[in-house]
Amino acid sequence: AKDAGGNRYELADPDSDARAIDRHSLTTRLPTALERDEFFLEYQPLIRMSDGHVDGAEALVRWKHPVHGLLGPDRFIPLAEHTGLIVPLGRWVMEQAVRQACAWHEERSAEAKAAAKGGRGAKNGKGGGKSGKSGKGASEDYRPLRVNVNLSPRQLHHPDLVPDTVAVLEGAGMEPSSLCLEVTESALIGADEDELKPLRQLAELGVEIALDDFGTGYSNLANLRRLPATTLKLDRSFTQGLQQHPADPADVTFVEGIVTLAHALGLAVTVEGVETEHQASKLRDLGCDTAQGWYYARPGPASTFQKGFAVTL
Ligand code: C2E
Ligand code: CA
Ligand code: CA
Ligand code: CA
Repeated sequence: AKDAGGNRYELADPDSDARAIDRHSLTTRLPTALERDEFFLEYQPLIRMSDGHVDGAEALVRWKHPVHGLLGPDRFIPLAEHTGLIVPLGRWVMEQAVRQACAWHEERSAEAKAAAKGGRGAKNGKGGGKSGKSGKGASEDYRPLRVNVNLSPRQLHHPDLVPDTVAVLEGAGMEPSSLCLEVTESALIGADEDELKPLRQLAELGVEIALDDFGTGYSNLANLRRLPATTLKLDRSFTQGLQQHPADPADVTFVEGIVTLAHALGLAVTVEGVETEHQASKLRDLGCDTAQGWYYARPGPASTFQKGFAVTL
């Protein structure tokens, strides 16, 4: 296999036999894979830290390859980005995710109505009570679950981003505020006003914008004011630093500072990669608004939400 643009695929990796699958064969298979419906989405819940409720879910794409089996996005998103297939694939992801969010919303509403009528509370999902709370009032259940969708740099710069997004929202009859587009901080570094325009337009329509992997890039913090973001998603590396006893003081200071700054700018803070209760409580104490990670739930099929979304995890 040749080395297109950098050595990052050649790094030693426990996965190296898998990495050795010819990238060329994956790349040529990508367009057919979309036609043949080989992609599917998993969803990972986003937990509101103040009360442990599920606030939304991030859609994460997977490829069920007929020969190589289940492939994670790190294996093929860079290839799709490179070839441009990310544009139709990304559009497909957004459409699936938005439809799914609408289906959840309908189920939630129906379930809450039934519960109000019959007095039978919404059922508890498995693993209930992890955050120390379980099954609460049904009033909560009418609020649509937000769905988060990742956007690659190529999609961000594609002229159809705004019309496609609007068409997907209108087609599903979903409120723009129930969609959150996740854009990496690095994709926006150095973007000029023209390049930010599509995101700004979407933000003006009410679509939420999250800066993904925040803290890993080199963006100027003052630059934040200029970006149409509504949420910062703190990268997993900071969550990892908080796992130590005592927590790495540099990470604590960093998270504290970012939360203060974000809140002062009217931005919410989501933390990724929360794997332990220790991290969760630390991050809650530091004022983070929303959390995501294996401690709460691994990414899973949409059906796990259909049973568990009405209750706290
Ligand atoms: P990301 O956007 O930073 O997504 C979070 C990644 O962290 C996911 O990996 C998720 O499964 C993983 N994760 C969640 N909780 C934990 C945890 O507690 N511990 C650890 N160690 N990991 C956790 P995944 O699903 O393999 O996705 C990898 C990346 O692929 C994503 O990183 C995102 O950049 C990209 N990606 C996924 N789906 C899409 C998509 O539809 N479009 C685009 N453009 N990129 C996507
Ligand atoms: Ca993301
Ligand atoms: Ca991320
Ligand atoms: Ca990441």
